Amino acid sequence: MHVNVICHHCLEVSSVEKKESYVSEKCAACGDSLLDAKPFKANGVILEYFLKKSDLPIVVDFWAPWCGPCISMEPHFDVASMDMSLEAQFLKINNDDNQTLGSKHLIINIPAVLIFKEGKEIDRFTGARSSKQIQKWVSQYI
Ligand SMILES: [Zn+2]
Repeated sequence: MHVNVICHHCLEVSSVEKKESYVSEKCAACGDSLLDAKPFKANGVILEYFLKKSDLPIVVDFWAPWCGPCISMEPHFDVASMDMSLEAQFLKINNDDNQTLGSKHLIINIPAVLIFKEGKEIDRFTGARSSKQIQKWVSQYI
């Protein structure tokens, strides 16, 4: 079985064979590794693109630079994203720069982490969590 994933370097879609674990996997378009994917800095247009084109669950962190818990969670979100490459795709959206999108998704407290599957939000949490907690939460939906 193959799944479509979006390369975090060039944003092209690659079709990847679904496996239990990956040793190496390269983007068909740019040749860069699809592993160790850091969260992609997104906006509404990019979020829509991921929701339409990727077959993986999409995990989105709504954050802002002035928010202490957001900053403390940042390295944890990075680790979760890198560890779960090709299981889920992680995005970060600056809620200050994307307020219309934030209100569309009813973001009140941040950090707010939303998970989407087949284009629809299926769960969310607010407040900082550790990388282990984030991964455990995402794993339920893979
Ligand atoms: Zn690429």
